[in-house]
Amino acid sequence: MENTKQAYAELVIKEGINIQKGQRLVINCPVECADFAKMCAKAAYENGCREVIMRWNDDTIARLKYLYADSDVFDKVDPWDEMFSDKISEEGAAWLAIYAEDPENLKGVDPDRINRFQVSRGKATAKFREREMRNEFQWCVCSVPTVAWSKAVFPQLSEDEAVDKLWEEILKACRADKGDAVSNWRKHSEELKKHVEILNGFNFKSLHYTNSLGTDLHVELPEDHFWAGGDEASAKGVMFSANIPTEEVFTLPKKNGVNGVVYSSRPFCLNGNIIKDFYFVIKDGKIVEAHAKEGEAILKDAISVDEGASYFGEVALVPFDSPISDSGILFLNTLFDENASCHIAFGEAYPCIKGAETMSMEELAERGVNSSMTHEDFMVGTRDLSIIGTTHDGKEIPVFVNGNFAF
Ligand code: ZN
Ligand code: ZN
Repeated sequence: MENTKQAYAELVIKEGINIQKGQRLVINCPVECADFAKMCAKAAYENGCREVIMRWNDDTIARLKYLYADSDVFDKVDPWDEMFSDKISEEGAAWLAIYAEDPENLKGVDPDRINRFQVSRGKATAKFREREMRNEFQWCVCSVPTVAWSKAVFPQLSEDEAVDKLWEEILKACRADKGDAVSNWRKHSEELKKHVEILNGFNFKSLHYTNSLGTDLHVELPEDHFWAGGDEASAKGVMFSANIPTEEVFTLPKKNGVNGVVYSSRPFCLNGNIIKDFYFVIKDGKIVEAHAKEGEAILKDAISVDEGASYFGEVALVPFDSPISDSGILFLNTLFDENASCHIAFGEAYPCIKGAETMSMEELAERGVNSSMTHEDFMVGTRDLSIIGTTHDGKEIPVFVNGNFAF
């Protein structure tokens, strides 16, 4: 198992980040996952990293802060903190996030505190996020188990068994459980590119989603949009994989071009809370109604952190019969659950528009690229999901039939 974990750390550094000689690497990591961070740091130095900079976090400390800190601390971010994300992204350092939050860590916390902190943090990291969305540096999100997360996924197991089981499932989902993890990953990335090519060939004007949950959603795609999936190139031409694992191909919707109703197909972990059974009504791109059986207040706060939060920024296609989905496990972690299902994000759009590198934020906005301080993926794919694409000359092409690609 230890060797497999080391191979997974190497996969993250070589394929996720693809650390370059002389480049610095920031690792954001829960203190509980320090062993894995050490493996990543070792792999990074072995591959030419100039310096690894650690940014530690902890669920308990975060929860205590939300419960007991002075109220005004949620309205500001210290200037040195803001300067860190600004300067480090300007320098082009790579960024690795090890994401392993207890899905209900902030249950019962005052949503107003969460919301205010999201707004102040969002403003303070605006430049960092813009550079990240434009892939000006390589970045990667991956996960390793913590006790709380593992127990949330496998409540029937003991702590040790739950952690081991979650490790096993993560390694499987990342194709790092057997054989050579790096070559398995490259092969998988090539597979994803096949669907990317077909979708780009059709150059759809719009997509129409329907299923038996009640989803009936029309999504217009911007002119000159492209689909992406698998590894991607940074602005400097360095190939990297932003998510490990990944099963999706994605593009962006036209900001004002989304209409209809969309139902969630899996619980949605948002800001340390779980939102269940929700749906949105969308008119000319804007979410005009949000309803949830559980967590409605948190959901409504999340789509109102700024203007762009109530518009969509991503549409992603994932076959219902994919390895993570086939595992039948609800991971309660967006990185895994979004790769088990077609998903849509509200908030910031990836600028998947030809020539976006040289366009200003204003030009991108004119093309229908949404901008927001948030980006949250929620799951919409079901066994009976149908997606019909319409081309610019009016042809209707099945894209998804019974939850899977039609081609
Ligand atoms: Zn996605
Ligand atoms: Zn997303």
